[in-house]
Amino acid sequence: ALTAGIVGLPNVGKSTLFNAITKAGAEMANYPFATIDPNVGMVEVPDSRLQRIDELIPAKKIVHTTFEFTDIAGIVKGASQGEGLGNKFLENIRQVDAIVHVVRAFDDDNVTHVNGQIDPVEDIATINLELSIADLDSVNKRYAKVEKVAKTKDKAALAELAVLQKIKPVLEAGGAVRSLEFTAAEQKIVHGLFLLTSKPVLYVANIAEADMANPEESAYYQQIKAYAAQEQAEVLAISAKTEEEIAELPDEERQDFLEAEGVSESGLDRLIRASYHLLGLATFFTAGGPETRAWTFRRGMKAPQVAGLIHSDFERGFIKAETISFADLDHYQSIQAVKEAGRLRLEGKDYEVQDGDIIEFRFNV
Ligand code: GDP
Repeated sequence: ALTAGIVGLPNVGKSTLFNAITKAGAEMANYPFATIDPNVGMVEVPDSRLQRIDELIPAKKIVHTTFEFTDIAGIVKGASQGEGLGNKFLENIRQVDAIVHVVRAFDDDNVTHVNGQIDPVEDIATINLELSIADLDSVNKRYAKVEKVAKTKDKAALAELAVLQKIKPVLEAGGAVRSLEFTAAEQKIVHGLFLLTSKPVLYVANIAEADMANPEESAYYQQIKAYAAQEQAEVLAISAKTEEEIAELPDEERQDFLEAEGVSESGLDRLIRASYHLLGLATFFTAGGPETRAWTFRRGMKAPQVAGLIHSDFERGFIKAETISFADLDHYQSIQAVKEAGRLRLEGKDYEVQDGDIIEFRFNV
C-alpha cells in the first residue's frame, strides 16, 4: 500500500496529529489489521459517493477504501550527518511515497520550540536542508560511478549523467529535486535514484484552534503558503490538537463540533483527501453484491491491473469491465436506467479506469 510519512521538527505537533489519525482509524471495524505497526495509522478515505451508490444499489454494508500514514519521528538539525536518529530517520523517509511535513504555526509559551522561537519558514528550511544534503550525498556517490561508465559512451550512463548534472547544482544550493521539470525519460531516471527531495510534499500548518475558522488570518500560515508556492507544493491549515479531540468524539457529535468551530469538514478528512491527490490516487467502486465498496487505484492504470487490485484471478482471466460512471448512476438512479440510456460501457484491456467508475469485472477462471 502507498503511504505518506509524517515528518517535522520536534514539538511541532506530529504525534498529536498522528494520534488523531490512529484514533480515527481505530473505529474502522472492517480493518482488524489496522494497528499492527505502531508507526502506521490507517484511515478510511471519506467519500460521500459511497452512500449515494448504496442508496441506489442497496447492499448489506459499505466498505471505504483506506489510506496509510507513517509516523517518522526524530529529525533534528544535523540528521544528515547522523545527529539524533539521523540515518534511521532518512531511511524511513526513503520508504514512503509522499511526505506530510508538519510545521508549527501556533503560539504557546508552554510548548518549547527547539530553536527558541516560532519561525515556520526557518523550520521548514531546517528539515529540507537535511534532506538536500542527504540527496547530494547519494548523487555524488552515484555520479562517480556513472561518470566512469559514461566514458565508454554507454547510452544509459550518458543519459543518467545528464540527469545527475541537472540535479546536482540544485541540491548544492539546498534546493529540492521536486522543484525541477523533467521529461518523461528523465523522470524515469530520477525515480530510480530514490531521492528524498523528489517525493511529493504536503505542508501542514499546525495552527492555533482560534485560527481554525479563519486560517488566512494567521501570519504563520501565510508565511508557509508563500514558501510552498515557490516549490509548487500544497499547504493545509490544521489544528492538530483539535483534530485529536474530534477523533475522540462519537460520530453523531462530530458534525456539531465542526459547525461550532465554523468549519464544514474535519482537518483530518482534508488531510486524507490532499494526500490521496498528492499521490495521484483515485477511486473506483464495486456494487451489486453484499457490499458497496470503494477501491484505490493509481491514475493511469488499465482495467486488468485495476481488476488485479481486487483479486489476482480477476487480472489473469480478465475479459471485460462492465462500467458505468458514478455521475450516470447518480443521474439515472438505477443500473437498469443507465443501461436503457445506453450509458453502460463494456471496456476492454486497454481501458484507463477513471475516478468514479462503478465496475463489474468479467473474467475466466
Ligand atoms: P511532536 O514532537 O512534533 O510529535 O509534537 P507533539 O505532538 O508531541 O506536540 C508537542 C506539544 O505541543 C504537546 O504538548 C502538544 O499538546 C502541543 N500541541 C500540539 N499541537 C498543538 C496546537 O495546535 N496548539 C497548541 N497550543 N499546542 C499544541
